[in-house]
Amino acid sequence: MSYATADQGTIRRTRVIRTFGAMSQLTAPPPTRPAAAGGTTLDHVRPAAASLRSVVKTSGVGDRAVRALDDVSISFEVGAFTAIMGPSGSGKSTLLNVLAGLDRVDDGMVEIGGVDIGELNDRDLTRLRRRRLGFVFQSFNLMPALSAHENIVLPKQLDRAAVDADELTGLVERLGLSERLGHRPGELSGGQQQRVAVARALLGKPDLVVCDEPTGALDSTSGAEVLSALRTATTERHQTVVMVTHDPAAAAYADRVVIVRDGRITHLLDTPTVDSIVAFIADDAHADVSTSETAVWS
Ligand code: ADP
Ligand code: MG
Repeated sequence: MSYATADQGTIRRTRVIRTFGAMSQLTAPPPTRPAAAGGTTLDHVRPAAASLRSVVKTSGVGDRAVRALDDVSISFEVGAFTAIMGPSGSGKSTLLNVLAGLDRVDDGMVEIGGVDIGELNDRDLTRLRRRRLGFVFQSFNLMPALSAHENIVLPKQLDRAAVDADELTGLVERLGLSERLGHRPGELSGGQQQRVAVARALLGKPDLVVCDEPTGALDSTSGAEVLSALRTATTERHQTVVMVTHDPAAAAYADRVVIVRDGRITHLLDTPTVDSIVAFIADDAHADVSTSETAVWS
């Protein structure tokens, strides 16, 4: 399945080769990515849930100012699951934060559902975030004094929005939380807490779900449950997921991997596998050695 957009004309689309042997220690279950559409032209007119256009974002001030995003353009199509990878400090979190309207850009434009969010005042931006976006962070970010159930419905309550009881029941069952709804976060395992955070992010079917290292603090079984839930959100609920991860096994659940380096998108890996991602990173590290540069992919 191709997600090429006009924006990506200058990006080198990488074909990565399979390698054997190196990955035997990684035990990702096979991702349930839908079969490729196979040459349909409809791929090219799928609407974007969100996009960045020529985005520049500087972090820090004075001598310490860094171009965390340096002219980044990319579209995230409706129903697509995108993983963002790159060396530490390459701009992944910054990309996610401007995409989610948590940070304003210095230049360029961020669109969510066709809305230029730079045109919104803070109140309208907050409202748009509550209604159209879901968030999952590495550190769960649950309210410790609230039960799992209260945490899941909190954003809807803040927005004075109705909760669809059937949807809530379905999500909770799918995430294996039915017996845990009355528990507070401190009484739940890390995996259970993150599943609560995922239920909170998915409830109300927001168009765009952004995740920063959602499996970074989880064991592989809990991680797989979280990733499956995110994958299902795209295939069955047509939600759009953008996930930063350093884990090839997590990124292999996605439809494509976007590689960020020095604040720029440098490569796109379509229909990635654990092997193809690992091969890419190994090649990249190799390239770094030749330029005496050190990159840590974390
Ligand atoms: P990543 O998530 O890929 O590790 P970040 O998006 O967090 O990278 O950071 C990109 C660059 O911006 C890095 O050079 C980082 O040091 C810098 N940066 C990020 N946030 C800040 C900040 N609040 N103040 C100063 N520099 C920052
Ligand atoms: Mg980061």
